[in-house]
Amino acid sequence: MKAVKLYEPGNLKVEEVEIPTIKEDEVLLKVKAVGICGSDIPRALVKGAYYEGLTLGHEFSGEIVECGTDIKDWKIGDRVTVAPLVPCRECNSCKEGRFSLCASYNYYGSRTDGAMAHYIKVNHQNLLKLPDNISYEAGAMVDPAANAVHGLWRGNLAAGDTAVVIGLGAIGLFAVQFAREMGADKVIAIDIFDEKLEIAKELGADVIINSMQEKPEEVLSNLQIDMVLETSGSPIAQNQAVLIAGKVARVVYLGISNRELTLSANAVNRLMRNEIHLNGSWNSFSNPFPGKEWTYSIQLMAEGRINTHSIVSHRYKLSETPNVFEKIKNKEIVFNKILILPEREE
Ligand SMILES: [Zn+2]
Ligand SMILES: [Zn+2]
Repeated sequence: MKAVKLYEPGNLKVEEVEIPTIKEDEVLLKVKAVGICGSDIPRALVKGAYYEGLTLGHEFSGEIVECGTDIKDWKIGDRVTVAPLVPCRECNSCKEGRFSLCASYNYYGSRTDGAMAHYIKVNHQNLLKLPDNISYEAGAMVDPAANAVHGLWRGNLAAGDTAVVIGLGAIGLFAVQFAREMGADKVIAIDIFDEKLEIAKELGADVIINSMQEKPEEVLSNLQIDMVLETSGSPIAQNQAVLIAGKVARVVYLGISNRELTLSANAVNRLMRNEIHLNGSWNSFSNPFPGKEWTYSIQLMAEGRINTHSIVSHRYKLSETPNVFEKIKNKEIVFNKILILPEREE
């Protein structure tokens, strides 16, 4: 089979490798679709792999083609998506059901081989069944959907709230839809690309704001904003998130930044005077593993209430993956979810 392996930053190679051998508690999956995550981009281009020769890919779906000897609840032919975290289940965070905060975890596509390959071996505890009416492409997007749900729950989004989503990548576009499903009265979407704002509108955003053209804190100055989910990771947007937050609002930082953040004097003043809650959000897991974020996302997708199709911007063959990262690096494409489809003819 072929696999996309990451060596030093920027050096991705498609290589011929052995099909993985499964252990008694694992299944072998034929990978049907795998997404490029925002976190894969710095991993592939800047930070490098956890070990040289790592196979990337943690957002994926597939069909079970082989089951380990201990497997009872799964069979060949089952259609599944996979929670990429393998928690230790022994540390205090795991015992409290906060698996995202596990002290000693494994992770498909980051700490162990992922799904940018024709096959992957996966522990049975990470499998979730895909109902027949969820496509494999949608199945590969349950991970970003569950991240969006986790972020909204970290902000205690409640029915009747006015919610703002900043950053309209896949997680942001899912958050716009889930906020509406959770009963938000009004959903406002902010980004710097008109293409993404148009998709947010199509997916149910009531107000769209291009923050390159208008200042969100001016446009929204007369509205009580109850919750802000910041998914871009941009320090400018993180500051704006506080500047637009209303009284006792909840601001959630979800987008990975790795940069310093300076809050403006106005933002600090507002944080205090409005008694704003500022929360972090990390990953998508809760108790029982992998969590309600995952089952809720699958349920709403199966009910046809969440659109995944409009979030996919590009589809590529496995062999094209290194070239795709090159295009991202050179800013040659404006993209949302990029899917790699390993079954496509080479
Ligand atoms: Zn991801
Ligand atoms: Zn743990």
